[in-house]
Amino acid sequence: ILEVKNLTKRFGALKAVNGLSFRVRQGTISALIGPNGSGKSTTFNLITGHLKPDSGTILFEGHHLEGLPAEEIARLGIARTFQTPQIFTHLTVLENVLLSVYQRKRPGLLSSLLRLPNFFKKEKEAQEEAFVYLERFFLADEAHRPAEGLPLGKLRHLELARALALKPKLLLLDEAASGLDPREKIDLAEALTSLPQEGITLFWVEHDLNLLMEVAEEVIVLDQGEKIAEGPPREIQRNPRVIQVYLGEEHA
Ligand code: ATP
Ligand code: MG
Repeated sequence: ILEVKNLTKRFGALKAVNGLSFRVRQGTISALIGPNGSGKSTTFNLITGHLKPDSGTILFEGHHLEGLPAEEIARLGIARTFQTPQIFTHLTVLENVLLSVYQRKRPGLLSSLLRLPNFFKKEKEAQEEAFVYLERFFLADEAHRPAEGLPLGKLRHLELARALALKPKLLLLDEAASGLDPREKIDLAEALTSLPQEGITLFWVEHDLNLLMEVAEEVIVLDQGEKIAEGPPREIQRNPRVIQVYLGEEHA
């Protein structure tokens, strides 16, 4: 579904992503791992158009993404979550999800519609749809409270509800489980691992390697912006170079 070739992004002298090539197969859960600063979030930002690559190509279902604005990439079917949750704190939990529902149904119209009074109260159908996502991520009880002040675990769930309400084909998760307690992580993993059966491919960054090794079929390992390994979790766990990189980080 996604093919990245020779992708490079520099920040001044730093090559945050360096000649990176990989594929994400349709219908899989694929993981992107690597130590802090290895270029995972930068890779996501390049795919979603939040950053422009210096060179290289990104193909999504045959469309070239490099150079496209983020909104257009979202419209092609790529949604994401952020390491720091990006939600509208002044809106309620329900309104946050409704925004995604409307963004999907009427792209472009959204900003003008938002200025209308009672915009969110109007459409029952959209509300019902939003509640499907709220329930899926255990947020129905919080629907009418402001998103501001929600605990981190709930914010992460809200971001996922927002991303899925866009009905993406590919969902990029940047540390969706970080900051969650073990119980919340299990609930989250359960809610997410069923997505490929619904036609949603997952590309997942997480520092909790135990979690990823359980759920991923394919793992790509970055170090200093370069791919140092890729393969199924069993192989990755035995790969000497991967072990060295992770031991090096712990001893640093
Ligand atoms: P983490 O696990 O800590 O989230 P990461 O693998 O996501 O790390 P990136 O955030 O992609 O790493 O960062 C890769 C490198 O690029 C780091 O050295 C980081 O400091 C640098 N970097 C990232 N974004 C910028 C930016 N906007 N300007 C300058 N340097 C940046
Ligand atoms: Mg990151």
